[in-house]
Amino acid sequence: MVQVRSRRGCTGCATGRQLNVACIFFERIEMLSLCNCTSPALQLLELGFFPCAPVNPSLAVDLNMLEFVNELFVNAAPNTTAWCETLEAFLGNRRYKLTTRNSLRRRFGSAMQWYATLIDKKTLLVNNYLDNMRTLINVSGISCLLLNKVS
Ligand SMILES: [Zn+2]
Repeated sequence: MVQVRSRRGCTGCATGRQLNVACIFFERIEMLSLCNCTSPALQLLELGFFPCAPVNPSLAVDLNMLEFVNELFVNAAPNTTAWCETLEAFLGNRRYKLTTRNSLRRRFGSAMQWYATLIDKKTLLVNNYLDNMRTLINVSGISCLLLNKVS
């Protein structure tokens, strides 16, 4: 696998350790080198990837793919194993192979689980905020109506 991206920030220092991350796209795998002196997870998110682990991830998935799979699993029975085996075969036919067996399923599954959890959490926070604002508007709207009738 050829390294085609590199981090704009620290590329290596005395306090950090070099981290090689396999970044999974629909049609290719890119290797990315990061220094772990700053959060690798945040560096990966900034580049459009979601890591398989918060500390020292070895694999990250393109956010577009995670969004696609998240939507797919809403409309079809969730099957991470089938998705990963298909993806691994598809990438393998294009000469992209991960070095360890079954590693995609476990690490992709972890990235998928935490991505979906964060998306659900975000949706819940936004919905709660909107509900609170609607309640405030309704309460203040009623107050305005009452004040207009009084005056
Ligand atoms: Zn560093």
